Formats: sequence, C-alpha cells, structure tokens
Amino acid sequence: MRSDFLTTGPVVPQFEQAIATYCGAEYAIAANSATSALHIACMALEVGPGDYVWTSPNSFVASANCALYCGASIDFVDICIDSLNIDVICLADKLAEAKKTGRLPKVLIVVHFAGVPCNMPEISSLAKKYGVRIIEDASHALGASVAGTKIGSCDYSDITIFSFHPVKIITSGEGGIATTADRDLAKRMERLRSHGVVRDVDQMTVAEPEVWYYEQLELGFNYRMTDIHAALGLSQMARLDMYNASRRDLVRRYDEHLKKLPIRIQKRDIKTSSHHLYPVQFSSAAMRETVFYHLRQKEILVNVHYIPIHRHPFYQSLGFKENDFPVAEEYYSKAMSLPLFPSMTEAQQNAVITQLQDILL
Ligand SMILES: *Cc1c(COP(=O)(O)O)cnc(C)c1O
Repeated sequence: MRSDFLTTGPVVPQFEQAIATYCGAEYAIAANSATSALHIACMALEVGPGDYVWTSPNSFVASANCALYCGASIDFVDICIDSLNIDVICLADKLAEAKKTGRLPKVLIVVHFAGVPCNMPEISSLAKKYGVRIIEDASHALGASVAGTKIGSCDYSDITIFSFHPVKIITSGEGGIATTADRDLAKRMERLRSHGVVRDVDQMTVAEPEVWYYEQLELGFNYRMTDIHAALGLSQMARLDMYNASRRDLVRRYDEHLKKLPIRIQKRDIKTSSHHLYPVQFSSAAMRETVFYHLRQKEILVNVHYIPIHRHPFYQSLGFKENDFPVAEEYYSKAMSLPLFPSMTEAQQNAVITQLQDILL
C-alpha cells in the first residue's frame, strides 16, 4: 500500500517470476482472472470463428466459455469414471472420427480436475499426431506434477492456466496466470491483456518512434493484474508447499477413515496431486442427496463439483443434449466434495468423518 504503484508496477513481474520459477516455466503472464487468461490463451493460439475447441464437461463453465468468446465452437470429451479427467480412449476415438469428418479441434483444453493431473504424455502425443494445440486449465493444480515435471512447465502443452480465486490453492483476491515455454505466445498474451498495445520498439511497425509513441496492433482487453493483487499472490507463494502438504495429509486421513464406507474416491497418486478438492461418489443419486442434506444440516459445507458444462441452459441452447456425455453425468448425479482446506483441524475433519460413518454404516 505504501508503494508508488497500485496497478501494474514492479510486483506483477515479481509474482510472474515466482510462478515461472516454481513451475519451471519460461514465461508467465498474469491477468485479472483465470478466465481472462484462458481467453487470451485461446486468442494467442488463434482460435476464431470456424474453429473447434474441446474440453472436459466436468469443469467450471470458464473452461468452455473462453472458446466461445473467440467465436469458435465448443465440444466436449467425456471423462473417465476413475480419474474424473478427460478419458484418453474417448479422446483418441473422437480425434480419429473428427479427422474423417474434417472437424479436428484447433485446441484441446484439458482440466486437471481436483488437482489430479491428466495423463499429459499420452494426451500430448495424440495432440501432436493430429496437429492439435493444448491448453491446460490447471486452476486446481498449482503444485501438482506429471511424469516428473511440474504442471505449468508446459512440457506437454502450449499454455497452462492457474487461478488465484480465493477458493483455489493460493489466492491473490482475484487473479490468474498463463505460463508458456513459447516466446511468441508469451508476447502475444502480454499485449492482449493490455488492449493489444505495444511499447517495445521491436514489436512496432515504425523503426524510430518518438518517446511518447505506442501502437495498438490488435484488439485486446484490459485484463491486467494489479500490484495489490500480485503482492497478495506473492506472499502466498511462500506458503504454497506448506498448504499442499496439509492438503495431502488431510487426504491421506480421509482415505484411511473412509475406506470402509460405500463410497468411491478419485483414482490418483497422492504425492503428485495438489488436492484442490476431495470428491467422492455415492452408490446412487438418492444416497448423495440424503448425505448432502444431512451434512449441510450439521453445518458441514459440502458441495458438488461440477454440474456438467453442457447441462447448463446456455449450453443446451447451443444444441447439447442431456445424455451427450454419460460418464460426466453419471458422476455428477452421485458426486459430492468433502471439506478440504489447509487450516482444517483434525477435530474438524473427524466431525465430517463421524457424520459420514453415522449415516452410511
Ligand atoms: C475457478 C476456475 C476457473 C476460473 O477461474 P477465475 O480465476 O475465477 O476466472 C476456470 N477453470 C476452472 C477449472 C476453475 O476451477
């Protein structure tokens, strides 16, 4: 607050550098939300009218909306009931089919649901085979890793997006960031987040501009992060690994105490996931409903992630039908996320476990 800068000043690049260093990324471009970052990521990959973008139906609507902002068409790849991420077999089949009909997507947006990384090596080799670019929506996955590399390094993708909304792994109030290993994509996103305006001589159309001169090269936005938000994010970076370690310990404890209950947990490697959520599946929709209202009545704030994107009225109006992605729907009908946050005490967790045991055993 005592700094001369309130909006983009010296702290935004410091925060960008901290994220880039942490993830092993070449470049990081901060924005005022992950949604904005997803939008400029799609634009940097030249998503536009006539293009297709595919994503997971088991996500927040922002994972799909970004393609529509660019005038592209969206489609979904159903999930695997174990990982709750895009099913690689479905993806392979859908790509083969799309190639035949000439409707291959330009971009695939994978979502690391609950912080569990998608199978990036396989997804990336499929994408290479078909010439599809990849954006990782890693809003849940700061600190997670896959095949020995941190999510955000972009070893298996073109661009990775993180969210710093208060419910996510760390927060800046509101905020998001795009990481990439590609200098041109980084430059493009940097200018799109600020009106499409450039001040670097090497990006201008004139050779020797006057000192006051700047140029707008394309239609961008004001998606800038402020220094105030960046300072909040930067201070949280110091606690990131501690937060994730707490989440991991809580997950191990849930796993241990819930294993005798008739619920199904997400298939994941505890060590490499960032555990944004602890999603469980009950044996039926009726059981989920009973448990949900029982816990809510006890003031335990359980939630449901996610209403499949194509089930929203807006997406139905685009032509998606109720049973288009049956696995995502099946999961949604029985799903519930248990409370999970780094400062959760053992007593708080025990209260959740006891209530679940009472109602399910
Ligand atoms: C939260 C979230 C977003 C949007 O993040 P904002 O920073 O709120 O714009 C996008 N995708 C997923 C998967 C999310 O969980």
